[in-house]
Amino acid sequence: MTCHICTTCGTQFGESTEPPSACPVCEDERQFVPASGQAWTNMAVIASTHKILWTEEAKGVHSLRILPEFGIGQRAFLIEGPDGNILWDCLSLLDEASITKIAAMGGLAAIAISHPHFYSSMMAWSEALGDVPVHVHADDRQWVRRSGPALSPWTGEIFELNQATLIRCGGHFAGSSVLYCPWLEDGRGALFGGDTMQVTLDRRYVSFMRSYPNLIPLNARAVKSIGEAVRPFRFEAIYGGFSGRTIKREGSHVVERSIARYIRAIADDPQQD
Ligand SMILES: [Zn+2]
Ligand SMILES: [Zn+2]
Repeated sequence: MTCHICTTCGTQFGESTEPPSACPVCEDERQFVPASGQAWTNMAVIASTHKILWTEEAKGVHSLRILPEFGIGQRAFLIEGPDGNILWDCLSLLDEASITKIAAMGGLAAIAISHPHFYSSMMAWSEALGDVPVHVHADDRQWVRRSGPALSPWTGEIFELNQATLIRCGGHFAGSSVLYCPWLEDGRGALFGGDTMQVTLDRRYVSFMRSYPNLIPLNARAVKSIGEAVRPFRFEAIYGGFSGRTIKREGSHVVERSIARYIRAIADDPQQD
Protein backbone atom coordinates (compact mmCIF):
# COMPACT_ATOMS: atom_id res chain seq x y z
CA MET A 1 0.00 0.00 0.00
CA THR A 2 1.25 3.45 -0.90
CA CYS A 3 0.11 7.01 -0.27
CA HIS A 4 0.43 8.29 -3.83
CA ILE A 5 1.33 11.93 -4.45
CA CYS A 6 0.20 13.88 -7.53
CA THR A 7 3.35 15.25 -9.19
CA THR A 8 1.61 18.41 -10.42
CA CYS A 9 -0.16 19.71 -7.29
CA GLY A 10 1.79 17.69 -4.71
CA THR A 11 -1.32 16.38 -2.93
CA GLN A 12 -0.84 13.12 -1.03
CA PHE A 13 -3.75 10.66 -1.26
CA GLY A 14 -4.87 7.98 1.20
CA GLU A 15 -3.34 4.50 1.02
CA SER A 16 -4.02 2.36 -2.07
CA THR A 17 -2.24 -0.34 -4.03
CA GLU A 18 -2.89 1.26 -7.42
CA PRO A 19 -2.53 4.99 -8.10
CA PRO A 20 -5.83 6.93 -7.99
CA SER A 21 -7.65 7.17 -11.34
CA ALA A 22 -7.40 10.98 -11.37
CA CYS A 23 -6.48 13.98 -9.22
CA PRO A 24 -9.63 16.02 -8.47
CA VAL A 25 -7.47 18.92 -7.22
CA CYS A 26 -5.77 19.20 -10.63
CA GLU A 27 -8.98 18.58 -12.60
CA ASP A 28 -10.64 21.53 -10.84
CA GLU A 29 -10.68 24.79 -12.84
CA ARG A 30 -8.24 26.36 -10.35
CA GLN A 31 -5.44 23.88 -11.19
CA PHE A 32 -4.44 21.92 -14.28
CA VAL A 33 -3.41 18.53 -15.56
CA PRO A 34 -0.19 19.05 -17.56
CA ALA A 35 0.04 18.26 -21.27
CA SER A 36 2.16 15.23 -20.38
CA GLY A 37 -0.78 13.78 -18.44
CA GLN A 38 -1.51 12.77 -14.85
CA ALA A 39 1.51 11.31 -13.04
CA TRP A 40 2.11 9.97 -9.54
CA THR A 41 4.99 9.57 -7.14
CA ASN A 42 5.34 8.99 -3.39
CA MET A 43 7.28 10.47 -0.50
CA ALA A 44 10.08 7.86 -0.52
CA VAL A 45 10.80 8.60 -4.18
CA ILE A 46 10.76 12.37 -3.61
CA ALA A 47 13.07 11.96 -0.59
CA SER A 48 15.65 10.17 -2.75
CA THR A 49 16.14 13.22 -4.97
CA HIS A 50 14.90 16.21 -2.95
CA LYS A 51 15.43 17.88 0.41
CA ILE A 52 13.84 20.64 2.44
CA LEU A 53 15.58 24.00 2.54
CA TRP A 54 15.09 25.94 5.78
CA THR A 55 15.48 29.73 5.80
CA GLU A 56 15.19 31.98 8.85
CA GLU A 57 13.03 34.81 7.47
CA ALA A 58 12.75 36.77 10.73
CA LYS A 59 12.96 36.14 14.46
CA GLY A 60 10.74 33.11 15.07
CA VAL A 61 9.80 32.67 11.39
CA HIS A 62 11.38 29.86 9.35
CA SER A 63 10.35 29.16 5.76
CA LEU A 64 10.58 25.62 4.38
CA ARG A 65 10.52 24.61 0.74
CA ILE A 66 11.45 21.60 -1.35
CA LEU A 67 14.64 21.73 -3.42
CA PRO A 68 14.74 21.17 -6.31
CA GLU A 69 11.26 22.62 -6.66
CA PHE A 70 8.44 20.08 -6.56
CA GLY A 71 4.70 20.40 -7.29
CA ILE A 72 3.39 23.94 -6.90
CA GLY A 73 6.64 25.07 -5.27
CA GLN A 74 5.08 26.72 -2.24
CA ARG A 75 6.83 27.48 1.01
CA ALA A 76 5.57 26.41 4.41
CA PHE A 77 6.46 28.13 7.69
CA LEU A 78 7.59 26.92 11.08
CA ILE A 79 6.47 29.71 13.40
CA GLU A 80 7.78 29.83 16.95
CA GLY A 81 4.91 30.84 19.21
CA PRO A 82 4.24 31.46 22.91
CA ASP A 83 2.24 28.20 23.09
CA GLY A 84 4.52 26.09 20.90
CA ASN A 85 5.53 25.85 17.27
CA ILE A 86 2.92 26.15 14.51
CA LEU A 87 3.42 24.75 11.02
CA TRP A 88 1.60 27.03 8.57
CA ASP A 89 0.93 25.34 5.23
CA CYS A 90 2.79 22.19 4.31
CA LEU A 91 4.97 20.37 1.79
CA SER A 92 4.72 17.04 -0.05
CA LEU A 93 8.04 15.93 1.47
CA LEU A 94 9.06 15.56 5.11
CA ASP A 95 12.74 14.63 5.32
CA GLU A 96 14.67 13.11 8.24
CA ALA A 97 16.75 16.26 8.73
CA SER A 98 13.58 18.33 9.25
CA ILE A 99 12.12 15.79 11.70
CA THR A 100 15.33 16.04 13.75
CA LYS A 101 15.37 19.84 13.55
CA ILE A 102 11.73 20.20 14.61
CA ALA A 103 12.29 17.83 17.54
CA ALA A 104 15.27 19.94 18.65
CA MET A 105 13.05 23.04 18.47
CA GLY A 106 10.52 21.46 20.84
CA GLY A 107 8.23 19.70 18.38
CA LEU A 108 5.06 20.94 16.72
CA ALA A 109 1.97 22.09 18.65
CA ALA A 110 -0.30 22.55 15.64
CA ILE A 111 -0.51 22.39 11.85
CA ALA A 112 -2.78 24.85 10.03
CA ILE A 113 -3.31 24.99 6.27
CA SER A 114 -4.49 27.96 4.20
CA HIS A 115 -6.35 26.03 1.48
CA PRO A 116 -6.47 22.72 -0.44
CA HIS A 117 -3.57 23.46 -2.84
CA PHE A 118 -1.23 23.35 0.16
CA TYR A 119 -2.72 20.32 1.95
CA SER A 120 0.16 18.36 0.34
CA SER A 121 1.34 15.68 2.84
CA MET A 122 -0.21 17.29 5.94
CA MET A 123 -1.36 13.98 7.49
CA ALA A 124 2.08 12.40 7.02
CA TRP A 125 3.66 15.40 8.80
CA SER A 126 1.12 15.08 11.59
CA GLU A 127 1.78 11.36 12.07
CA ALA A 128 5.58 11.66 11.94
CA LEU A 129 5.63 14.46 14.50
CA GLY A 130 3.32 12.90 17.10
CA ASP A 131 -0.26 13.10 15.77
CA VAL A 132 -0.21 16.88 15.69
CA PRO A 133 -3.72 18.35 15.13
CA VAL A 134 -4.24 19.52 11.53
CA HIS A 135 -6.52 22.55 11.23
CA VAL A 136 -8.26 23.06 7.88
CA HIS A 137 -11.42 25.07 7.24
CA ALA A 138 -14.45 22.77 7.18
CA ASP A 139 -15.83 24.48 4.05
CA ASP A 140 -12.96 22.93 2.06
CA ARG A 141 -13.22 19.49 3.59
CA GLN A 142 -14.38 17.94 0.30
CA TRP A 143 -10.82 18.52 -1.02
CA VAL A 144 -9.09 16.45 1.68
CA ARG A 145 -7.62 13.43 -0.13
CA ARG A 146 -6.01 11.82 2.92
CA SER A 147 -7.73 12.06 6.29
CA GLY A 148 -6.92 10.74 9.76
CA PRO A 149 -7.85 11.14 13.45
CA ALA A 150 -5.68 14.27 13.77
CA LEU A 151 -7.66 16.13 11.09
CA SER A 152 -9.41 18.98 12.88
CA PRO A 153 -11.73 20.99 10.62
CA TRP A 154 -12.76 24.38 12.02
CA THR A 155 -15.90 26.33 11.18
CA GLY A 156 -16.96 29.97 11.12
CA GLU A 157 -14.94 33.12 10.46
CA ILE A 158 -12.08 33.03 12.98
CA PHE A 159 -10.40 30.36 15.05
CA GLU A 160 -8.03 31.08 17.94
CA LEU A 161 -5.01 28.79 17.71
CA ASN A 162 -2.29 28.99 20.39
CA GLN A 163 -2.44 32.83 20.57
CA ALA A 164 -2.53 33.07 16.77
CA THR A 165 -5.75 33.61 14.81
CA LEU A 166 -6.92 31.76 11.74
CA ILE A 167 -9.06 34.12 9.65
CA ARG A 168 -11.35 32.75 6.97
CA CYS A 169 -11.27 35.14 4.00
CA GLY A 170 -12.79 32.98 1.22
CA GLY A 171 -12.21 33.99 -2.39
CA HIS A 172 -9.68 31.54 -3.85
CA PHE A 173 -11.51 28.71 -2.02
CA ALA A 174 -14.62 28.96 0.17
CA GLY A 175 -12.50 28.22 3.24
CA SER A 176 -9.34 30.09 2.15
CA SER A 177 -7.71 31.39 5.31
CA VAL A 178 -4.80 33.46 6.54
CA LEU A 179 -2.88 33.21 9.81
CA TYR A 180 -2.33 36.21 12.08
CA CYS A 181 0.50 36.11 14.65
CA PRO A 182 0.49 39.28 16.82
CA TRP A 183 3.74 38.51 18.65
CA LEU A 184 5.97 38.46 15.56
CA GLU A 185 7.91 41.45 14.19
CA ASP A 186 8.62 42.59 17.78
CA GLY A 187 4.91 42.69 18.60
CA ARG A 188 3.84 44.59 15.48
CA GLY A 189 2.30 41.43 14.00
CA ALA A 190 2.60 39.29 10.87
CA LEU A 191 0.07 37.84 8.46
CA PHE A 192 0.63 34.63 6.48
CA GLY A 193 -1.35 34.84 3.24
CA GLY A 194 -1.10 31.48 1.46
CA ASP A 195 -2.90 31.91 -1.86
CA THR A 196 -5.72 33.89 -0.23
CA MET A 197 -3.70 36.99 -0.99
CA GLN A 198 -0.48 36.62 -2.98
CA VAL A 199 2.41 39.00 -2.49
CA THR A 200 3.22 40.43 -5.92
CA LEU A 201 6.74 40.23 -7.36
CA ASP A 202 7.46 43.90 -6.62
CA ARG A 203 6.65 43.19 -2.93
CA ARG A 204 4.59 46.40 -2.75
CA TYR A 205 1.13 44.89 -3.15
CA VAL A 206 -0.89 41.74 -2.68
CA SER A 207 -3.36 40.47 -5.27
CA PHE A 208 -6.19 38.00 -5.51
CA MET A 209 -7.34 35.28 -7.93
CA ARG A 210 -9.76 32.39 -8.05
CA SER A 211 -7.14 30.59 -10.18
CA TYR A 212 -3.54 31.76 -10.49
CA PRO A 213 -2.42 29.26 -13.20
CA ASN A 214 -5.61 29.70 -15.23
CA LEU A 215 -5.92 33.46 -14.61
CA ILE A 216 -9.49 33.52 -13.29
CA PRO A 217 -9.97 36.72 -11.27
CA LEU A 218 -12.19 37.23 -8.24
CA ASN A 219 -15.08 39.69 -8.35
CA ALA A 220 -15.21 42.93 -6.35
CA ARG A 221 -17.51 41.48 -3.69
CA ALA A 222 -15.10 38.64 -2.90
CA VAL A 223 -12.08 40.95 -2.67
CA LYS A 224 -13.92 43.47 -0.46
CA SER A 225 -14.90 40.58 1.77
CA ILE A 226 -11.23 39.58 2.17
CA GLY A 227 -10.48 43.16 3.25
CA GLU A 228 -13.29 43.11 5.81
CA ALA A 229 -12.02 39.82 7.25
CA VAL A 230 -8.49 41.09 7.97
CA ARG A 231 -9.32 44.75 8.77
CA PRO A 232 -9.63 44.20 12.56
CA PHE A 233 -6.02 42.95 12.70
CA ARG A 234 -2.85 45.09 12.65
CA PHE A 235 0.28 43.62 11.08
CA GLU A 236 3.62 44.86 9.82
CA ALA A 237 4.80 41.89 7.70
CA ILE A 238 2.98 39.77 5.12
CA TYR A 239 4.50 36.40 4.29
CA GLY A 240 3.28 35.11 0.92
CA GLY A 241 3.13 31.47 -0.11
CA PHE A 242 6.21 31.53 -2.36
CA SER A 243 9.92 32.16 -1.98
CA GLY A 244 10.89 35.82 -1.67
CA ARG A 245 7.27 36.98 -1.49
CA THR A 246 7.55 38.88 1.76
CA ILE A 247 6.41 42.40 2.59
CA LYS A 248 8.32 43.66 5.60
CA ARG A 249 6.56 46.95 6.44
CA GLU A 250 3.05 48.41 6.82
CA GLY A 251 1.27 45.19 5.89
CA SER A 252 -2.19 46.35 6.98
CA HIS A 253 -1.86 49.45 4.79
CA VAL A 254 -0.56 47.38 1.86
CA VAL A 255 -3.67 45.19 1.95
CA GLU A 256 -5.98 48.23 1.93
CA ARG A 257 -4.26 49.91 -1.02
CA SER A 258 -4.05 46.58 -2.87
CA ILE A 259 -7.80 46.04 -2.56
CA ALA A 260 -8.46 49.60 -3.77
CA ARG A 261 -6.17 49.05 -6.79
CA TYR A 262 -7.77 45.70 -7.61
CA ILE A 263 -11.32 47.13 -7.46
CA ARG A 264 -10.27 50.02 -9.73
CA ALA A 265 -8.70 47.57 -12.20
CA ILE A 266 -11.85 45.48 -12.65
CA ALA A 267 -14.35 48.37 -12.45
CA ASP A 268 -16.52 48.95 -15.53
CA ASP A 269 -15.37 52.56 -15.67
CA PRO A 270 -15.21 54.39 -19.02
CA GLN A 271 -12.93 57.03 -17.42
CA GLN A 272 -10.25 54.41 -17.01
CA ASP A 273 -9.74 53.48 -20.68
ZN1 LIG B 1 -3.02 17.03 -8.48
ZN1 LIG C 1 -4.11 27.84 -4.41
